[in-house]
Amino acid sequence: MAKKKVLVDVEIICEPPSHTRWFSALENQAKEMESWIKEFHEFIRDHRSQDPVNLEVRRIYEDRCEFCQRFWEVGDDGCPICCDEAVKEWDNSRAEHKLQLEA
Ligand SMILES: [Zn+2]
Repeated sequence: MAKKKVLVDVEIICEPPSHTRWFSALENQAKEMESWIKEFHEFIRDHRSQDPVNLEVRRIYEDRCEFCQRFWEVGDDGCPICCDEAVKEWDNSRAEHKLQLEA
C-alpha cells in the first residue's frame, strides 16, 4: 500500500480547569482560557527550576452557512449547495456583479 502513516510532529494537549468551559459561547471560553494561561504563566515563572513554558489558545474555525449553519460547500459552478437562502443570495450577488460589469 502506497499510503503510509508517518509521524511528522509532536505536540502537547493541555486541558485547562473546567471553569474555563462554563461559558456557552466558545469565544467566551477562549477568553477565559487566555486569562487562565496568563495566571499559569506567572505561576510557572515563579518556579525557577522550571524552564519557561508557553501555552496558547488555538481557535479552530470552519466555514458554515450563515442561514442554515451547515458546512459551507459549493458545486462546480461555485453555487452553494446547503439551502435555498444561500442559493438565492448567490444568484443575487451574481446578478449585481453582472450589472456592474455592464454599467
Ligand atoms: Zn445554507
